[in-house]
Amino acid sequence: MRATRPGRHLWRPYTQMKSAAAPLEAVATWGSRIVLADGRELVDGIASWWTAVHGYNHPHIARAVADQLARMPHVMFGGLTHAPAERLAARLAALLPGDLDHVFLVDSGSVAVEVALKMAAQLWLNRGVTGRTRVLAFRGGYHGDTMGAMSVCDPDEGMHRRFGAYLPRQVFCDLPHTAEQAAALDAALARHRDALAAVIVEPLVQGAGGMVMHDPEVLATIARLARRHGLPLICDEIFTGFGRTGTLFACEQAGIVPDILCLSKALTGGTMALAATVATAEIFDAFWSDDPAAALMHGPTFMANPLACAAANASLDLFEREPRLDQARAIAGRLRDGLAPLARLPGVRDVRVLGAIGAVQFARAPDLAALKADLVARGVWVRPFGDIVYLTPALTIGADDLDHLLSALGRSVAETL
Ligand code: PLP
Repeated sequence: MRATRPGRHLWRPYTQMKSAAAPLEAVATWGSRIVLADGRELVDGIASWWTAVHGYNHPHIARAVADQLARMPHVMFGGLTHAPAERLAARLAALLPGDLDHVFLVDSGSVAVEVALKMAAQLWLNRGVTGRTRVLAFRGGYHGDTMGAMSVCDPDEGMHRRFGAYLPRQVFCDLPHTAEQAAALDAALARHRDALAAVIVEPLVQGAGGMVMHDPEVLATIARLARRHGLPLICDEIFTGFGRTGTLFACEQAGIVPDILCLSKALTGGTMALAATVATAEIFDAFWSDDPAAALMHGPTFMANPLACAAANASLDLFEREPRLDQARAIAGRLRDGLAPLARLPGVRDVRVLGAIGAVQFARAPDLAALKADLVARGVWVRPFGDIVYLTPALTIGADDLDHLLSALGRSVAETL
């Protein structure tokens, strides 16, 4: 008999419903805090899955969404347009490097990746080239939970590995950290070139695949090799976009301009579901035609939702007005100092920091539920996975809250390992 308990109608993400502890009930948020139904407050160490860069409930975003709600919460985007979307697209085009000027707005990160993959596929079809049905992706990568996005996630260790038989077959390589790996990537691109439509990478950090960080040179090598083999490069900046790595976009640090770039998560400051797939003029031109069949065949019902676009515009205002990138760099320093002592603990394999991302990797996967519960008892909200616990706080987090995160994490790791 299935238990009758609160929450039994909600099927929860990545959760074994039979054995998982009941979720905590959140009733409010403010700053970097989550308020629980029992009155406890947790300092959010991961900014709600890396989204709430300005902290929760920023009044500027709240006002923009409320104003938009009164005027026009939603209108279909097929055949219609509206100022919040037009303005957002123009602003993103101005902020993104190079001629990443053509913005397709969707409603989740995974769908932004699907659109990127579809753009790459149709790009070749529109050029009259068939057979380019595969994508080169990197081991350790994570790009989302829909079928196309799953197909470019790590095929061996990734969370979607059981679905291999259901997914399009892709080509996988190691990130080119060494000259040998770069040569192997070059060789794989040469070998599979006529079957490849694109290369996809998470720039500077593979997030959900294990917070694996790489130097900008690695990204520059990937961009150079993709170009050498005539393949469009898709940068998935869904995690890294909007200051997380210390620059507005991670690809800036390698001085590269991808052909297609995906954004979501912090795009609306973590308030509304919105994502964008942005293409260069060269990609866009392949769809510019007298042939109706050359049009991009995609159009989710809630694409470019005006509320979400208003939130994103307000979030961009905050990036303009407030020193978010300085805050991200300051957090990087604090994470480096605060996490360094953990590297000396016997059960810790590695401690690494990139921008406002700090990760602790254990020698063996710990009891994640126990670690999480211990941290909740200390007033901290994190979501460890595999052999990793990490911090990606709001870029606006106060010094006291950040100190609390670091000291609680230090104690918890030392005591539960
Ligand atoms: N790509 C990357 C790099 C991500 O980190 C994520 C989510 O964590 C996604 C894609 C999928 O985004 P969403 O969860 O909005 O579908």
